[in-house]
Amino acid sequence: MRTQDIMAKLQAKYPLEKEYLQAVQEVLESIEEVYNQHPEFEQAKIVERMVEPDRIFTFRVTWVDDRGEVQTNLGYRIQFNSAIGPYKGGLRFHRAVTPSMLKFLGFEQTFKNALTTLPMGGAKGGSDFDPVGKSNSEIMRFCQAFMLELWNCIGPDQDIPAGDVGVGGREIGFMYGMYKKLARQYNTGVLTGKGGTWGGSILRPEATGFGALYFTHHLLEKAGIDIKGKTVALSGFGNVAWGAAIKATELGAKVIAISGPDGVCHIPDGITKEMIDYMLIMRASNRDRVEDMATQFPDKARFTAGKKSWSIPVDIALPCAFQNELAEEDAKELVANGCTCCCEVSNMGCQPGAIRYFQQHGVLFAPGKAVNAGGVATSGLEMTQNAEHISWEAEEVDAKLHSIMKSIHEQCVKFGTQPDGTIDYVKGANIAGFMKVAQAMLEQGTI
Ligand code: GLU
Repeated sequence: MRTQDIMAKLQAKYPLEKEYLQAVQEVLESIEEVYNQHPEFEQAKIVERMVEPDRIFTFRVTWVDDRGEVQTNLGYRIQFNSAIGPYKGGLRFHRAVTPSMLKFLGFEQTFKNALTTLPMGGAKGGSDFDPVGKSNSEIMRFCQAFMLELWNCIGPDQDIPAGDVGVGGREIGFMYGMYKKLARQYNTGVLTGKGGTWGGSILRPEATGFGALYFTHHLLEKAGIDIKGKTVALSGFGNVAWGAAIKATELGAKVIAISGPDGVCHIPDGITKEMIDYMLIMRASNRDRVEDMATQFPDKARFTAGKKSWSIPVDIALPCAFQNELAEEDAKELVANGCTCCCEVSNMGCQPGAIRYFQQHGVLFAPGKAVNAGGVATSGLEMTQNAEHISWEAEEVDAKLHSIMKSIHEQCVKFGTQPDGTIDYVKGANIAGFMKVAQAMLEQGTI
């Protein structure tokens, strides 16, 4: 069956699952040519099998808030694909979480994990629990209630969750504490993103942002551009934007915009170390407001309500927050203002129209599954350290992360170089990931 026919069937089957269909469409468009060159894939119905998750767990999560009121949320774990290793991927706590969102993320994760060169399958999970405005005790009670159901589905050699939007070190800590109590298993490798004293990898919190900047650096270098002195707009101010801000500044770029759901902070002279540290306080406050940065640093940051980071003229745009956060209109504004590079750090951060516009206007563009793979790659390194009961120094983890990002860039170049010599990073990443997963599925028979 041709990939368009597979897509049409999926559209008819899941008409309401917009994000999932968008993610599948992008991959199928990219791989069409190589798929047609491999009749053995078609014969084994590799694509038809690959687009469906292996299994989905859905559960009720009931907890009690600070006022003593009973609250009920939905929890999910989607084990998408285990062709190249145990299920691996984060947990997202956000009010907008739906099965469609987690299916798109699990699908993307499968290819992203394949790109890391480490043996990890793809998974995703989470809940429609909204951390905004919640107290620390409420977060803890929710995490414990969530793990009450999840613990039975996961294991260090089976399925290893980690963080994502709304889930950081604090939440992983609360979930791990409850997991131990329920499972009576003390193997730290069951979750990644743990604290440094109890099995966490040094640099895991920074890894997604650091990896994204290593990738961006290689992409620019390949195009003969030096990142030094370039202006950068980030979106969000969470863990990923924080790591990206540190590394971009370290590499000599100037981060002049961060944002939140409330608006954008313009920082004309570039973000400072104090401001980067303050991002962590903002994240821990659960207020979800970037305006707090301008209140704290009135001389350095100017807040504009209702605007995105993409309204600030910059050389490089790095979406670090949420899927579809950069629309075609935003791409037009960025390009009109001189932007020449956009690397997606969030998963599927750009809408298809924005990607098309960037590509048609010569903007260097790379997709999230390549750019942000440093996070899960460092999770993979954390699993290795846990299995060996050892802990590596920061330099060792950083060197491994850097070499993985370099390899991901090379895979994109290998599979994405076009006849005219330009590099299509979307195609490159999708084909490289697909070939690896497809080959593994083929070799493991019809299951
Ligand atoms: N949530 C991150 C991602 O989208 C990290 C997953 C992990 O470390 O397992 O890749």
